[in-house]
Amino acid sequence: MSWDKTGKDGSLLKWYDVMEAEKYEYTVGPAGEQFFNGLKQNKIIGSKCSKCGKIYIPARLYCEDCFVKINEYVEIKDEPYIDSFTTIYADDEGNKLSTPVYIALIRFPNTKGGILCYAEGNVRLGAKAKIVSFEWPIRVRVE
Ligand SMILES: [Zn+2]
Repeated sequence: MSWDKTGKDGSLLKWYDVMEAEKYEYTVGPAGEQFFNGLKQNKIIGSKCSKCGKIYIPARLYCEDCFVKINEYVEIKDEPYIDSFTTIYADDEGNKLSTPVYIALIRFPNTKGGILCYAEGNVRLGAKAKIVSFEWPIRVRVE
């Protein structure tokens, strides 16, 4: 694999290459399967640690604090909020986009973790967001 790097001081570098993804098998694992199957049913699925009660989003297989395997999956019904976001004004080639694109990290109350998604509307920190599409990548709308 070779890496061609272009760019100059003060500008972002771009890497052009081909990922050899077809040579590897990647699975989302048992917890990821719960999460993505939930999305197909318009649900956010987290996993709940039986020892400390923490809920992880997306669902994961082990509690990072207790080091115990998680076997319980729960649907999250609370509205997410915008934890952080970035605004994209240009495409990969530097061409100005007609409408800026927001990429946001959404989190849910009383849970650990979060989900990166596309956001639209009056995107701002801490604002409540409504999931408008559960198709991956998720889309949220902020009023
Ligand atoms: Zn735990």
